[in-house]
Amino acid sequence: MSKWYTRSCEDCGCDIPIHEDWDNPPKLCKSCKEDRAAQWYDRSCADCGTSMRIHRDWDNPPKICKSCKEKREAKWYEVRCNGCGGSIKANRDWDTPPKFCKNCKDSNAPKDVSCAHCGKGFTISVGTQIKCKQSGWKMPKKCPDCRELFKHKPFKTVKETTFLGNTVYRTYNSLGQLISESRDETTFFGNKQRRHTGQTGKTVGITREKKTFLGTPYREMTGPDGSVKSRSREKTSFFGNKYTESEGGASNTTHKTTTETTWTGEKYRKTE
Ligand SMILES: [Zn+2]
Ligand SMILES: [Zn+2]
Ligand SMILES: [Zn+2]
Ligand SMILES: [Zn+2]
Repeated sequence: MSKWYTRSCEDCGCDIPIHEDWDNPPKLCKSCKEDRAAQWYDRSCADCGTSMRIHRDWDNPPKICKSCKEKREAKWYEVRCNGCGGSIKANRDWDTPPKFCKNCKDSNAPKDVSCAHCGKGFTISVGTQIKCKQSGWKMPKKCPDCRELFKHKPFKTVKETTFLGNTVYRTYNSLGQLISESRDETTFFGNKQRRHTGQTGKTVGITREKKTFLGTPYREMTGPDGSVKSRSREKTSFFGNKYTESEGGASNTTHKTTTETTWTGEKYRKTE
């Protein structure tokens, strides 16, 4: 009895002689086996350098080995978007995790605006826009420098004389930093008005005397664009002290201005 039989090669179908005693009889003929071997090549893992077997038929041959791939995937984690609460992918290799998802970033792209007080350009960040929307606040109208100036209350308005002899009212914050200047002027039509300028000399508003239809006098301040920024009226307190009540302004709140006297006898106006 012959101990040999034949089997067909899986690739080309030719006869392969197989001995009955072989544990792992070949499925391919010698030349097909060589052809298949030629389809494979070696590449080193981009992360660790380990050699990987790559087949020529693969569309997207891997650049990193399996264990490095797992390590890279383990670096990803999820954080909550501060805007919509949706989940965002974050990587442990990044210095700071992202705060907002792409959607929130796109719909609140940084806005370049000019400061309502000094005219300087500033950018309203994605975070500020989202925070304002969430809290129902208005977008900032003043640049960070001016916001800082206006933070320190009470304000103090002092009547001063310039070196040209003109009267100027200068308003300082509680730190003594100049916020704005006001000068009385007469328009072409003979109307008296007071012009307010910021630290840089840019006109930030004009105050005119007005009367309500009941005849009560009040002052109205308009911005450079002609919009009403604030209105104020003279009032007398319960104790008989005169003060000025004003509403409006960037913060849209009511302020009270009183005339105060310093220990040197100098009068100034204080706004709270
Ligand atoms: Zn073959
Ligand atoms: Zn690797
Ligand atoms: Zn979001
Ligand atoms: Zn400013």
